[in-house]
Amino acid sequence: MTGDDSTAAPTLAAKSPYELRVNLGKGVPEADVRTALATGDMGFLHSFTTGSTVDGPGVRVVAWTSGCQFRCLYCHNPDTWTMTNGIPVSVTTATNELRKYRHGLKVMSGGFTLSGGEPLMQHRFAVKLLAAAKSMGIHTTLDTNGYLGDRLTDSDLGAIDLVMLDIKTWDAEKHKRLTGADVAPTLEFARRLGALKRPMWLRYVLVPGLTDDPDDIAQIASFVAGLGVVERVDVLPFHQMGRYKWHKLGMDYTLEQTSPPSQELIDRTIEIYRARGLNAV
Ligand code: SF4
Repeated sequence: MTGDDSTAAPTLAAKSPYELRVNLGKGVPEADVRTALATGDMGFLHSFTTGSTVDGPGVRVVAWTSGCQFRCLYCHNPDTWTMTNGIPVSVTTATNELRKYRHGLKVMSGGFTLSGGEPLMQHRFAVKLLAAAKSMGIHTTLDTNGYLGDRLTDSDLGAIDLVMLDIKTWDAEKHKRLTGADVAPTLEFARRLGALKRPMWLRYVLVPGLTDDPDDIAQIASFVAGLGVVERVDVLPFHQMGRYKWHKLGMDYTLEQTSPPSQELIDRTIEIYRARGLNAV
């Protein structure tokens, strides 16, 4: 990667990941993209926010990577699917940006979260950035769909204090319909985190009509309870804040008529997790 990204950090700043961002890295030559992925010295970020209280423990700085291999029907950020929609940023630049926040993050019992898109699409960059944050004494969290978890070595996992793992559904066929991908690698990654005793939070997006089957949720709940490392379950109610992105991108959005879950459905779902001894919220 040859581009000078010294101006990237301010451009990256976003109030929320719901800002539509496209083609920001479009001019980057394909060969440079390949080099970035191979070395991990450079990555593509969709946006960067500070002060988040919903992306891990405490108050967090969050960087959202671009690039995702899933195609979730209910994705809030379809503009993160394409890597070159993001801004190319070097590990050095991102680390320097993070350094500014390290004292504040400690005071607020927070840390750094790498989310996406899917951060492990750029696993070398992800590992370098998380390791750099950890070496500054910053608590590190990786928010992932887990599909590419086998790209991380056990030693890589040592630089990650917490994995927030999204399990979309238990049923293999349904997972394929919802995301376009197999669920098995995600479950395998979860088993590995359990075997390695790595702290994990489960993130579960609750979509009426798609992911609200109590039997399916119970299967996930029993599975993650058995791992012995799940500190918390976040039940995340589906919302329509990303709908406009599907429209702007000219993509076929199939959830036009789907409403957010009722409080009763949310409570019932949380209860399924709690019934297995999990700390669900
Ligand atoms: S894994 Fe996340 S970023 Fe990727 S398509 Fe699904 S919801 Fe969107």
